[in-house]
Amino acid sequence: MQELLKELVEKHRKTTELGKVASYIPELEKTNPRNLGIYILDNEGNEYFAGDYDNKFTVQSISKVVALMLAILDNGEEYVFSKVGMDPSGDPFNSIRKLETSSRRKPYNPMINAGAIVVSSMIKGDDAKDKFNRLLEFFKKITEDPSLELNPKVYLSESETGNKNRAMGYYLKSEGIITGNVEEALEVYFKQCSIDVTAKTIAKLGLFLANEGQTSTGEQVVSNRVSRIVKTLMVTCGMYDNSGEFAVRVGLPSKSGVGGGIVSVVPHKMGIGIYSPALDQKGNPIAGVCLLEDLCNELKCRIF
Ligand code: GLU
Repeated sequence: MQELLKELVEKHRKTTELGKVASYIPELEKTNPRNLGIYILDNEGNEYFAGDYDNKFTVQSISKVVALMLAILDNGEEYVFSKVGMDPSGDPFNSIRKLETSSRRKPYNPMINAGAIVVSSMIKGDDAKDKFNRLLEFFKKITEDPSLELNPKVYLSESETGNKNRAMGYYLKSEGIITGNVEEALEVYFKQCSIDVTAKTIAKLGLFLANEGQTSTGEQVVSNRVSRIVKTLMVTCGMYDNSGEFAVRVGLPSKSGVGGGIVSVVPHKMGIGIYSPALDQKGNPIAGVCLLEDLCNELKCRIF
């Protein structure tokens, strides 16, 4: 396996040239677009890795998966999904247009920005700081990684340039979908996106979901049902508006982020973490997706 990963990283280092690192958050532009790494953890405790698996990058939209689990633990499934839907939107992740034109009013799903901001608004805590800390502690617990921390530079960059997210937050507040303090919801959202991770952290998140919400010590942190809901939304909405094609090519519940990460889940077997900051036009890690496709061809681990 270790050899296979090395080969695939070498092969797809070239694929990185076809993409571009995200530049709409100025701090993200400082990344080397040629970076590519993978980390795999399996249920037997084996670890395999290759390439830039040790580099830090911000978790970005992969945090939407973590925040959703915590929001359901805090409020229950029924309440959460009364405020956000479960269907693909077919629009880019940061699109604003259907918020007003769709008859359903609430954002389509928790994996697009509008839905994720609503989810962040539901995390319990005394103030934004407390809410974010609870999310960070939850993230540490499920990944068994106590070193996780905020990247303050990326957070400032996100917050300074996040006008569209702010616009969505205020619109959702005006419609009564966000009921609490909208500035707090946005602060939590910008901060959760700005947590530094490595491919290993992401692989641990994948393994947690592969094991139906259990840590390696056997602690059941979220129920099977919550883990199933999250994985289903990852399949249908996790790879932006390219989730359908990704399901055909790769066929694993996955979530990408504009920092270059992808978490993929091989149910009951493995967690996979990818780091590949050069993105395609939909915002997905271009070489990372190709690498995963080849890996699934080799391992025959697709869920379909
Ligand atoms: N913080 C980013 C944003 O809201 C997250 C985007 C992403 O990774 O999809 O624009």
